[in-house]
Amino acid sequence: TKPPGRHLHKHHQLWTPLTLTDFEAIHRCERSLPKNFNFAADVLEQWSQKEKTGERPVNPALWWVNDKGDEVKWSFRELSSLSRKAANVLTKPCGLQRGDRVALILPRVPEWWLLNVACIRTGIVFMPGTIQLTAKDILYRLRVSRAKCIVASDEVAPAVESIALECPDLKTKLLVSSQTRNGWLSFQELFQLASEEHSCVETGSEEPMAIYFTSGTTGSPKMAQHSQSSLSIGSTLCGRYWLDLKSSDIIWNVSDTGWIKAAIGSVFSSWLYGACVFVHQMVQFDTDTFLDTLTTYPITTLCSPPTAYRMLVQKDLKRYKFKSLRRCMTGGEPLNPEVLEQWRAQTGLELYEGYGQTEVGVICANQKGQEIKPGSMGKRMLPYDVQIIDENGNVLPPGKEGEIALRLKSTRPFCFFSEYVDNPEKTAATVRGEFYVTGDRGVMDSDGYFWFVGRADDVIISSGYRIGPFEVESALIEHPAVAESAVVSSPDRIRGEVEFVQELPKTVTGKIKRHVLRDQEWGRT
Ligand code: ATP
Ligand code: MG
Repeated sequence: TKPPGRHLHKHHQLWTPLTLTDFEAIHRCERSLPKNFNFAADVLEQWSQKEKTGERPVNPALWWVNDKGDEVKWSFRELSSLSRKAANVLTKPCGLQRGDRVALILPRVPEWWLLNVACIRTGIVFMPGTIQLTAKDILYRLRVSRAKCIVASDEVAPAVESIALECPDLKTKLLVSSQTRNGWLSFQELFQLASEEHSCVETGSEEPMAIYFTSGTTGSPKMAQHSQSSLSIGSTLCGRYWLDLKSSDIIWNVSDTGWIKAAIGSVFSSWLYGACVFVHQMVQFDTDTFLDTLTTYPITTLCSPPTAYRMLVQKDLKRYKFKSLRRCMTGGEPLNPEVLEQWRAQTGLELYEGYGQTEVGVICANQKGQEIKPGSMGKRMLPYDVQIIDENGNVLPPGKEGEIALRLKSTRPFCFFSEYVDNPEKTAATVRGEFYVTGDRGVMDSDGYFWFVGRADDVIISSGYRIGPFEVESALIEHPAVAESAVVSSPDRIRGEVEFVQELPKTVTGKIKRHVLRDQEWGRT
């Protein structure tokens, strides 16, 4: 029989699928990257096959619920046939071709997962964005990317219409909604009519797959382009050592669909290991719904930004019984040690922090089998060689503060972003000597644990001392009246002041925008 989703290779050699062990070896850089790779054909089809033969536990590929009691469960086989239909919607009525760019601005609806896979099947480059984007943000993204199509939901459709005329390259607007709308193709209607027959494009491993916009914490978001292999095979070791996933797990990764953490935690790592991706489409983050979800569903694995844990530990967590939860993760921002200690004391569970970037994925993490040092981001993730360097690109010894950097060796590790699209200056600015610089400052201790100090731009200099905002923030939130804190420099050199505010300015991914506070302090607007 023909292997799943793939045809026999040229020269009539029988195609043998790559296994998880192969992906791990490739990710460790012990085995070379195959010339071609496609996540749908090379990973998802294998799980469909294993489902047929009973070689995997009965565990859905996707399990989706919302606030209204709706539920969707797809097996890998269903995911396969439905994503083929979605692929035909993109190539036929939407007229898109391999290499075209599509903005994908959807809430956490099952269609987001279908369209991710559909784009991979067709070689269309997807660019996820959160529905919290404003008309101005969407205009910026569509223009800089020259997107041919936007896929959007009711929440953002009016904003898209208000700027669509200013985007000359935008040919198609595809609406994911139960309603129809003038000027938009209806995904639901076209999907009903679409055929299930689709042959997956044989994409090159280094061919573009997706463009992720960075969070824009320090300025305009940058377009980090990822290849067919960088985010996918590049999420293997993260799935194994940080998330500790198996095909019987059910992972709830809370992150918004517009953020790269959704790709890593809710698509690639999870499905590489055949785990079930659990999604709760909460309209708004709500601690009660959150805790109910953890008690109702057999979720084994939780990943959520620190801000969610900061809110959760203010509840009496001892009252809740989390059925199956065994592993909890956080990342995206520093986790205050106080929150980790409270989570541990109240739930009896550890909280494993990871540190990463849109550009390179997960860089450091508290990994399986490693002791946690509260306040630290854990040790380097393979295959990265993470070092602390000075301004000249020299490696600093343990205990010395400097910039967190990744060694580029003779070539860039394949799991790196390819570039900031159309921005060779910014791409080049990330390289210093033999290193890629993250723009973050930190310290490595003698056991190889990394400690976050702050973004290079956020470090406060006072009387010649360098003060990391995170250390001060962590001390402040130990006070019972303080829920969150952000520390920035102030032009007053003599008096130190702490200001109490009702709310901190944040990016759409929930990160504190310290530069906004700093600008207020310095009277710059
Ligand atoms: P921009 O690059 O547009 O200013 P951004 O850097 O916030 O935005 P992301 O790629 O989403 O965009 O975030 C990566 C950054 O988030 C890291 O460089 C780091 O500053 C911060 N970060 C991520 N995880 C952690 C963590 N565990 N501890 C501290 N900081 C973290
Ligand atoms: Mg950044």
